[in-house]
Amino acid sequence: MFIRFALTADLQFSRDLTPEAVLAAGDTVQEANEVLFRRGVPAEAEDEQIGKITEWSAHDSVISLAIESGPYTRAHDALFRFRKLIAQAMGRHRLGLREITVRSFSVEIPGHIPDEAIPKLPFIRSVSSHAESVRIDLACSATDLENRVPDRIVKLIEEKKEAALYGGKTEHWELVFESGKRERIFEGNPTEEMLARGWIKHGASRGQWIFAPQAVALFRAFERIVVEEIIRPLGFSEMIFPKLVPWEVWMRSGHAKGVYPEIYYVCTPKTRDPSYWEDIADYFKVTGEVPVEMIRDRLDGPIGGMCYAQCPPFWPFVQGETLANDCLPIRVFDRSGTSHRYESGGIHGIERVDEFHRIEILWLGTAEQTIETANRLHETYTRVFEDLMELEWRSARVTPWFMAQEGMLGESGSADIGTRDYEALLPYSNSWLEFQNVSVNGDKYPKGFNVKIQSGADCWSGCSGIGLERWTAAFLAQKGFDTAKWPEAVARLVDEPKEIFRFL
Ligand code: ATP
Ligand code: ZN
Ligand code: MG
Ligand code: MG
Ligand code: MG
Repeated sequence: MFIRFALTADLQFSRDLTPEAVLAAGDTVQEANEVLFRRGVPAEAEDEQIGKITEWSAHDSVISLAIESGPYTRAHDALFRFRKLIAQAMGRHRLGLREITVRSFSVEIPGHIPDEAIPKLPFIRSVSSHAESVRIDLACSATDLENRVPDRIVKLIEEKKEAALYGGKTEHWELVFESGKRERIFEGNPTEEMLARGWIKHGASRGQWIFAPQAVALFRAFERIVVEEIIRPLGFSEMIFPKLVPWEVWMRSGHAKGVYPEIYYVCTPKTRDPSYWEDIADYFKVTGEVPVEMIRDRLDGPIGGMCYAQCPPFWPFVQGETLANDCLPIRVFDRSGTSHRYESGGIHGIERVDEFHRIEILWLGTAEQTIETANRLHETYTRVFEDLMELEWRSARVTPWFMAQEGMLGESGSADIGTRDYEALLPYSNSWLEFQNVSVNGDKYPKGFNVKIQSGADCWSGCSGIGLERWTAAFLAQKGFDTAKWPEAVARLVDEPKEIFRFL
């Protein structure tokens, strides 16, 4: 059994075909079947696996075709190869090809395909499932066929079938390093303790905190550790990455493949004209309510979303460029703003929030340079968590973040490419918290954003996301709130808290 494609299409010409033109069309069909469709096909392919015009007819100004194929010179590829040939042949009879109308298109995929593997897309007209195959009728225009929509649907079904078969499969996780045990200093929940001490209060939005000076002092202490121990010694330079990410970026980064349930979407007003908005403002003035439904009608977009992963909006800076050999490896970082994820019911304490603060370290260069930077980061992080913060932590090889965010499970398939998560023990819940990661992303981003290296070597990149809420949650959960018991390297960076607010 092999995959089968079948289509019928009408080729509309500028005038009625003359009898000579019809004869020429017959010769063209024969040439296509015998020569053109066989180009590039492996010698061992069987006849019925190769695209073939199985029926054709000419009436008035239209040539109608039926094309069938297996996996080679798929019916739609055959159609466009034929288009070129017939346009030339009919041109000699002063007939111009005006338009191609696809009347029907079907694909039959062998094997058992579970129902949940069939996507719900406007292109899918009907589906008939059989024990050993599934037949799908598509409503596709010639442009859709040229954009290879059928091939992409087949690939998507294969991916969904795989996902359905391994439905129980969870994220890959493989221990790399485990620190020694540490003395238990604190057993409490750090978020509750911070709340009780007035270090944080809930923000007005979901999964959002307002951080008071004591909490921020700790954030800044960790930031200083990151800058002094990691960023400066390894020579990373600060940049500011945008925090509103348009679809164009997520299309190239791959996030457009799967991140929809967690996006904070962004819309723009249809117009900036105050009169267009006057009744909305008036409605609020009169009722004290913001008329959300009325507003929704007056918005364009969503044009994209708020920063989700921090590095994708960096890439337009190098998009389409060739990097000089002598500027590599490039090492930069961003700490210029918040990241936003709709975590739904998963929100928990300060460690899983909808609005969080993260330092993102990013590097690019040759494969060797990229791997080398990742290895140096692993070494310096290890020193920071072991000697400076004295944490109980571990690291594990996990599903690469870029795959996870495209909705995929498993591994990258290369030992050099992937994500290492850093996890810290939370004694109060006896669970492990991912507080940061280091990834070698291979050529994914340079490919997606078309970045090259002068030498012609493959361009690779890596990134590391340091979650400040997560560092704080991990540190306080293990070390508690008595600064006398904190490791010196952290305590020395935090002043005695001042009492700034007193609530009566
Ligand atoms: P998790 O597995 O906990 O959901 P993640 O794997 O989705 O985290 P990444 O996409 O790898 O997170 O993001 C990199 C880092 O950003 C995380 O290691 C963490 O420090 C931080 N981070 C991610 N999501 C959140 C969140 N909802 N709240 C706070 N920090 C977060
Ligand atoms: Zn990143
Ligand atoms: Mg997550
Ligand atoms: Mg992660
Ligand atoms: Mg994770």
